[in-house]
Amino acid sequence: MPSSRPRYSVVAPVFNEEDGLREFYRRMKAVLDSLDGPAELLLVLDGSRDRSPEIAAELRAEDPRVKLIRFSRNFGHQVAISAGIDYAEGEAVIIIDADLQDPPEVIHELIAQWQQGFEVVYAQRAQRKGETFFKLATAAVFYRLIKRLASIEIPADTGDFRLIDRKVVLALRQVREHHRFMRGLSVWVGFKQTGIRYVRNERFAGATQWPLGKMVKFAGDAITGFSYVPLQLATTMGFWVSGAALLAIPVVAVLRALYNENFFYGQATTLLAVLFLGGVQLIFLGLLGEYLGRIYDEVKNRPLYLTVEAPPRPQPDRGDNA
Ligand code: UDP
Ligand code: MG
Repeated sequence: MPSSRPRYSVVAPVFNEEDGLREFYRRMKAVLDSLDGPAELLLVLDGSRDRSPEIAAELRAEDPRVKLIRFSRNFGHQVAISAGIDYAEGEAVIIIDADLQDPPEVIHELIAQWQQGFEVVYAQRAQRKGETFFKLATAAVFYRLIKRLASIEIPADTGDFRLIDRKVVLALRQVREHHRFMRGLSVWVGFKQTGIRYVRNERFAGATQWPLGKMVKFAGDAITGFSYVPLQLATTMGFWVSGAALLAIPVVAVLRALYNENFFYGQATTLLAVLFLGGVQLIFLGLLGEYLGRIYDEVKNRPLYLTVEAPPRPQPDRGDNA
């Protein structure tokens, strides 16, 4: 029934959002009502421990445009977005957070660019309200680091809030890697990209679900997913250290021959050198481990997520041959 196919799909990952979900729907509904075509709202329920699933089910009962993808447990923000992309039927798919930090009204601006012919329209934060100094500082470091390291050009200060055209949706569905950095992948696929600027708001309710540990893992996925630089650092450092050692041999020999003295004597010098290089080696071993563990996850090839409830998958006869 291609006629009932929505023109727009909005994908919103939901994790413990019981206090904000109704308000999110209220503002989203106003936007959906004003669009120039039929729309669907895909709520990806990522193993919440609160009443979010019940509230989402109520919303679906009220509004047939609401569809639920419910995971069997928490699989994480990036996987939740990917699931939304797998199920979205629209010509344009908009990814937005469910905590109202990304204002739903900005969707109109995203769509305006899409109608100009752009296939990826990302929303760039001109300003971030109500974030802690710590979050702003770590985010600033992260975006600069990834810019230096990554093999692709990831625009600074962009989150996952963006519109992607169906072509990009079909491309992204083919990317099944487990440690996913979606905003990197949506650049990696190519196509015509542009950005708009917006002011990121405070959360409407609840707290951020990103403790430091999760943030470090996220940064790790972003870097290992798009850069070999950490692996190559060991080579560079190895050349420097062995170069210094080669230079030191004649220097020490000459000094000792001339002055007949014990230069660099004592155990402390040796001990420090051994500890230092031992530490450096362990760090690089750990870096290797970061890549190795991720390779292991890919080789195991488990499904990206498991659902307990989901709409029917988009049919191949609708051009979803990916
Ligand atoms: N979220 C999710 N799974 C998680 C963590 C978060 O689906 O494991 C959702 C959350 O409900 C929200 C969005 O992802 O809609 C962004 O999360 P959050 O606001 O905690 O991140 P921040 O905005 O602080 O980066
Ligand atoms: Mg948020």
